Amino acid sequence: MTDSLQDNLTRVQERIANAAARAGREATTITLVAVSKTHPVEALLAAYELGVRHFGENRVEEAATKLPAFKQVVRDPAVVFHMIGHLQSRKVDEAVTLFDRAHSVDSVKLAQRLSRFAEKPLPILLEVNVSGEKSKYGFDGARRDDLFKAIEVITPLSNLQLDGLMTMAPLVADPQQARPVFRALRELRDELEARYSDLNLPQLSMGMTDDFEVAIAEGATLVRIGRAIFGERYHSG
Ligand SMILES: *Cc1c(COP(=O)(O)O)cnc(C)c1O
Repeated sequence: MTDSLQDNLTRVQERIANAAARAGREATTITLVAVSKTHPVEALLAAYELGVRHFGENRVEEAATKLPAFKQVVRDPAVVFHMIGHLQSRKVDEAVTLFDRAHSVDSVKLAQRLSRFAEKPLPILLEVNVSGEKSKYGFDGARRDDLFKAIEVITPLSNLQLDGLMTMAPLVADPQQARPVFRALRELRDELEARYSDLNLPQLSMGMTDDFEVAIAEGATLVRIGRAIFGERYHSG
């Protein structure tokens, strides 16, 4: 298993480097978040041995068994656990003990609760539903006034550090079809930074196995990649 994991990882890192070079960007500006959902803790440990330091999980229940098991073996402050899935209010207190960053902050209420429970300032991203698909979580990118109001409530929260935006592209046959969504997230970031002079949003979390190269071309700084590293998932995640 480690052999193919190593091959997969090397290949993904090469693809990230190539996509960055094509976009005229430094590959070091792009963080690979290895999405380990549905895979056992052994897979995370093997990836750690191969140099992975950023892991993404999308469910608190699953993380609650895997992450402490990982931390018992590896005590490395360089490891960052990213919460990338929809977070329910009642799981916030547990989530802040497990994760170092949240990508999927999709309501003011959730942000307020995270700030209340976090023991140290938690870096967060606001999830934006750029494509407007009904099935997706996130602030509606088309309702700018709601987003502005949310930002005005969230930025003063003392225990949160809002430093970027996150989006999920729709499932499409050709990754190029996702490009307008990634571009819209970057343009929204630029608009927000222009509107609020103290707001810095350097992080753009966008791009997964099927579309990360296009996301990098449009400015992604955090790519969330599962299948291309760990292989197909055999149960739902
Ligand atoms: C599962 C998941 C990913 C990774 O998806 P792959 O297609 O396996 O790369 C990225 N982001 C989120 C929010 C996910 O839930």
